[in-house]
Amino acid sequence: MIDVLNPADGTVVGQAPAMTLSEVNSAIDRTCEAFPAWSRKLAKERSELLRGWFERIRDDKAAFAELMVKENGKCLAEAYGEIEYGLGFIEWYAEEAKRIYGDTIPSHAANAQVMVVKEPVGPTAAITPWNFPFMMITRKVATALAAGCTMIIKPSEETPLTAYKLLETAREAGIPEGVFEMVTGNPKEIGERFTSDTRIRKISFTGSTAVGRTLAGAAGQTLTRMTLELGGNAPFIVFDDADMEAAVEGAVGAKLRNSGQVCISPNRFYVHDAIHDRFVEALAERVSRIEVGEGMRDDFVVGPMINRTGLEKVSSLVESARRGGANIALGGRAHGLGGLFYEPTIVTELDDDAEMARTEIFGPVFAVYRFQTEAEVIERANATEYGLVAYGYTRDLGRSFRLSREIEAGMVILNSGSVGTASVPFGGVKQSGYGREGSFYGIEEYVDVKYVLMSGL
Ligand code: ADP
Repeated sequence: MIDVLNPADGTVVGQAPAMTLSEVNSAIDRTCEAFPAWSRKLAKERSELLRGWFERIRDDKAAFAELMVKENGKCLAEAYGEIEYGLGFIEWYAEEAKRIYGDTIPSHAANAQVMVVKEPVGPTAAITPWNFPFMMITRKVATALAAGCTMIIKPSEETPLTAYKLLETAREAGIPEGVFEMVTGNPKEIGERFTSDTRIRKISFTGSTAVGRTLAGAAGQTLTRMTLELGGNAPFIVFDDADMEAAVEGAVGAKLRNSGQVCISPNRFYVHDAIHDRFVEALAERVSRIEVGEGMRDDFVVGPMINRTGLEKVSSLVESARRGGANIALGGRAHGLGGLFYEPTIVTELDDDAEMARTEIFGPVFAVYRFQTEAEVIERANATEYGLVAYGYTRDLGRSFRLSREIEAGMVILNSGSVGTASVPFGGVKQSGYGREGSFYGIEEYVDVKYVLMSGL
């Protein structure tokens, strides 16, 4: 068994099975064997089963939220927020299942009809991270099942309890064995099984760019298609015409969600020179009012880092900035609570050579850079191998359009710090991966287009 630890106090909160390879293989077999019957179900039947799962979870929110606080460390308010977000995908795709339309094309030949139909790609697999233990799974499973695919999930071994509870509720709602399966154990071994089995026709992965590259390399050998949601290095640009109060609120919301352990967390705050000092002062005032602590309470708090490696990474990035001559405007060390807690921190007077300008911080650290002109900041914002999301605050409409065109990212968010919901396409470009999740576009990743020519009519 794998012990699951509460990052807030190190206690064991539960266990998950460390499956043997033969158990993993049996689960893959069930996923593949269940595909023909599931794909032939009426769209309405798949839709109703998904809707039933949605309702079953909705009746059990409190138990899910508590589990998420305990194994992930996020606060209760955020756990409930994630449940709403994650439920949104099941609800959306329960509806979308009925609307996977095909097409007809004017025929190129006499007495013929050209049709395009969409068919589920086949059995699929997914590997998910620990930072959103609920939503990462519902987003992938609901899409796959709606399209008529079956799916086997390997959740993060840091947060398998929420995952197994999702499986249990799916079974209670009548989603059959094989249609949705789950395995935990050795990630590398399981990843290799997923990528080498030619019966698995698609893999969806959310996690680090390094692991994404390994999986995509192996999947290249079997030509297994992939959706990859990888690392980010999001710029958050505040222009001198921005609504300062809104920009501070947006910055705090986007940065401190899940204690900064989010792939779309702003990693580089670019603030126009003319308002830089005022912005930093307002940000410090706002952030200093936010508490740090264990999450089983009703108000928002910044929680612990997920594990010792996460804490050490954040500490070492801040120390490296300090040594490089940056100014620590707030925080800057491990929190007095001890354990895995880190102080919400603001670092200023950084330059683009700083280690934290190139590395995903994954912690509650605001890294602030000055800029002078729009052209300069767009160039600096794009000077990264990543391209997941970019945020901008400006009241100038022309500038908003220019940003939306010129920023290299899968998502551009203007005058808001909030990105995700079920109805929009989530995903990146460059080394942040490819493919989209959510919205109409999400389902396209799980269907093959089949061209049918009926000639001789
Ligand atoms: P993070 O930094 O978010 O933990 P990882 O990429 O390490 O990112 O982990 C994301 C998911 O990938 C987790 O479920 C983890 O267990 C899994 N994972 C880690 N290494 C491998 C691997 N070599 N092959 C397949 N999955 C892996």
